[in-house]
Amino acid sequence: MSKIKVLNEHLKNMIAAGEVVERPAGVVKELVENSIDADSHKIEVHLQNGGLDTIEVRDDGCGMDKKDATAAFGRHATSKIEFDQDLWNIHTMGFRGEALPSIASVSKLEMYTSDGIDQTKVVIEYGQIKEVKPVGCNQGTTIKVQGLFYKTPARLKHLKSANNELTTIIDLLSKLALAHPDIAFKLFDNDKLKLQTNGSNNLKETIMSIYGLETAKKAIDFKCNDFDFEVDGCIISPVITRSSKQYINIFINSRVIKSFLLTNSVIDGYKQYIMDNRYPIVIINIKADYQLIDVNVHPSKWEVRLSKERQLASLIKDNIEKTLAKAYHPSDLLLKDNPLNENSLPKKQNEKTQIVQQTLLDRDDKEEEKIIDRFVYLCQYHGKYILASDEDNLYIIDQHAAQERCMYEDIQKQIENKEIKTQLLLVPLLIESTISTVNRIDEINEKLSCINLNFEQFSSTTLLLREVPYFFENIDEIDFLNHLIEEVLSDKSMSVLEIRKEKIASLACHSSVRFNHYLSVEESKKLLARLSNCKQPFNCPHGRPTMISISDKQLFKEFKRG
Ligand code: ADP
Ligand code: MG
Repeated sequence: MSKIKVLNEHLKNMIAAGEVVERPAGVVKELVENSIDADSHKIEVHLQNGGLDTIEVRDDGCGMDKKDATAAFGRHATSKIEFDQDLWNIHTMGFRGEALPSIASVSKLEMYTSDGIDQTKVVIEYGQIKEVKPVGCNQGTTIKVQGLFYKTPARLKHLKSANNELTTIIDLLSKLALAHPDIAFKLFDNDKLKLQTNGSNNLKETIMSIYGLETAKKAIDFKCNDFDFEVDGCIISPVITRSSKQYINIFINSRVIKSFLLTNSVIDGYKQYIMDNRYPIVIINIKADYQLIDVNVHPSKWEVRLSKERQLASLIKDNIEKTLAKAYHPSDLLLKDNPLNENSLPKKQNEKTQIVQQTLLDRDDKEEEKIIDRFVYLCQYHGKYILASDEDNLYIIDQHAAQERCMYEDIQKQIENKEIKTQLLLVPLLIESTISTVNRIDEINEKLSCINLNFEQFSSTTLLLREVPYFFENIDEIDFLNHLIEEVLSDKSMSVLEIRKEKIASLACHSSVRFNHYLSVEESKKLLARLSNCKQPFNCPHGRPTMISISDKQLFKEFKRG
């Protein structure tokens, strides 16, 4: 007996739903992309419980007439392509005609749509049309989705917590908003406004709304082109970096895409300016002939196949290098009054200093194991080094590395002994961050309670801190907090207390006193005393030497007296 049957429409839609709308964020993506395709100027997303209970998307786009209002729910029903050749020339976000029927097959869906003439309401429950009738509504479309996956329990079980879903949706809408600065987006969760852009078509204003004022201030205009591609947008100064690649936004013809090759070309362009494992913030749109782009690679359309991708990658890399070189000399970043100094150290050291250090180090080989008893302070050199001596050595101490070492051991001890005392600030600290980060404030507070930090939300992109540990006195607190928050959210390392202790201490050091800050004689002496009390005074926590020494014997030899 033959066994093969053609699946019924409902089952086909449910299967497609598995691919297209795995999670609330998938539904939001499809609905918002439809609104973008409908030439909307305003798009609002209203969620209840991170989209687990309700997802509603409202737009002021072209809307649908009475006939299309139901036709839209037919499988592979689309207004966006018609002929074979259209598939190679896709100007819209959607084209598969799968999203609406798929979503309607796994939820209760209500739609209100008007093209300016007809005004129609459609209700569909788990694939069955329940109601179609005329109704009063403005031009545009509102689609409300509830009870998502209620009838597909296996999928329901895999949905993460409401806040998790919300974070994913915020990240998604952030990208869509950056790709479409001409559209005003709003996102609400449980009636609270979470994200808002003004639709002024000014990319820097959109960057400010999404990534905050500090990032927007550091945005550099970026433009380049060759015969096939035209790239423009903003690249953010390398003084601001992130621990994840997520902030490298690449759009092709305003479509949010993921491309390993292009992301790496951006990272390569920044290479001289950014430490390993840190990533830049970039927002660029690539205009290309639609025929060069194959969007029909994956149902969710995150990935595209692009002809001449390598050519595009070098175009991007070379021009980021050029743009940054025009804006900065690598050594600028070292000396500029720049809160993220450590983090933006250029990798190429000044060759001359490197050679001098090396020669001194070579001579010092045999002396390495010696223990320091007591330094006598001599003087400060160029605001970077302290010269000191003991009975038979001259020391050149790298002030910055020495401070890092002292801070590191000190903070470690405090965390270990749970003796972190805090002080109330006269003026609370404001930490400019991203909407997505601010949304995870509870998680941040939970993980950082170990050092008595408790953030409050100040605005959608700003956190506020009223009380800080005493060890903050010596560090660039904003830089430190930014890094710390990122570490906590990246989830990689902050679980075990031991790692936490090292991590926090090491981060704090990163943010400690700047290289070119002159210490007073008193401060220098205090630093020498602290250093000599360290368990391991010879290296900073990141492995660089804190000092080099020249023995009397060596001096004697150098001056040909031996
Ligand atoms: P696709 O976007 O791939 O065409 P969808 O299933 O997402 O497929 O949508 C089907 C059709 O419904 C679209 O082609 C469009 O004509 C219509 N449509 C969907 N959403 C909207 C909207 N917000 N405004 C106007 N028309 C819409
Ligand atoms: Mg669509």
